[in-house]
Amino acid sequence: MQTVSTLLSGEWYERYRAISRLNMRSSIYDVTNRCNLRCKGCFFFSSDEHTAAPEETDIGRWEAFVEKEQARGVNLAILIGGEPTLYLDRVAAFYKRLPTYCATNGLIKIPRDRFPDMMVGISLWGDEEDEKLLRGKDAFSISSKNYAGDPYTYYLYTITPRQLGRTERVIKRIDDAGLKVHMQLLSNDEGVEGFSWTPSQLADIRAEMDAMLAQYPRTVISCRYYHEVITTGRMLGRPFGWNECPSVTEPLDTRDPRPKRLIRFIRWAADLQTMHRCCTSATRDCRTCKDGAAHMSWVMVNKRDHLRSTEDLQNWIEVYEMFAKLYKFLPW
Ligand code: SF4
Ligand code: SF4
Repeated sequence: MQTVSTLLSGEWYERYRAISRLNMRSSIYDVTNRCNLRCKGCFFFSSDEHTAAPEETDIGRWEAFVEKEQARGVNLAILIGGEPTLYLDRVAAFYKRLPTYCATNGLIKIPRDRFPDMMVGISLWGDEEDEKLLRGKDAFSISSKNYAGDPYTYYLYTITPRQLGRTERVIKRIDDAGLKVHMQLLSNDEGVEGFSWTPSQLADIRAEMDAMLAQYPRTVISCRYYHEVITTGRMLGRPFGWNECPSVTEPLDTRDPRPKRLIRFIRWAADLQTMHRCCTSATRDCRTCKDGAAHMSWVMVNKRDHLRSTEDLQNWIEVYEMFAKLYKFLPW
């Protein structure tokens, strides 16, 4: 097998060295079971994860829990829900102790005097028409006003098949609001008609994602290899799925043989005791999973397999850098 130093030189070798120092250890936390929206296809509600456990309401217990997570080696807390901004004291319990990323629908503005540099990812499900259909309202019109120009915020744009040919307008609006965007694909967990991907649509959206990255390189946080992996569901000839997924909660991971995986990763429910199967829906058929973070992590944990050629290793570096930027381990 080739080595990193035989495959890389100059700038690429320095980029590799920069990311190899990062040693990210993430886990995911449901801050609450409640949300101020009910989107069709939301993995949390469609898999009944909101009923898996009651919420811990004592803030002292949240603080003690985060300290235990720190001691477990976690250095990146990814807060989801439900809608975390409904309980800012719980968000603060993490933010005061750990590098923290907060996912939100953006309807409630996170006060920057209290959370000055917390990374915020706003969910976006398409243009006004799709958001009204899937989320019941045009959330972008509110979130873009709340966060315009914020240097620590980006949109997590979940592209649906109906967005084919229409992504540029969405990305232009994000660019106009002075924000960044990262793209992933809808998994259509609730089987909404017209929102499941066909192979030819996946090929088309890959080309469109590549074009958006080329056209808006300062706005779109992405790379072409990520587009390839998420649209084809394949990496180095292997199919994504349960046997390969890196984002399974470690204490629940009984797979044998165990694939390369995220070390010490757990997705915790809001009672701070119950664990969910993985980073996304507990009931999703893994063969249909398009979760962006799971696909990125899949590439990241498989560095050794990318030591085949200079191009493969450079692709791996770009995915790793993208992930690090999205969680503020590297600047945009
Ligand atoms: S805003 Fe997020 S958590 Fe709330 S229903 Fe929609 S997808 Fe689910
Ligand atoms: S649903 Fe997706 S993230 Fe969850 S175990 Fe399956 S492949 Fe992994």
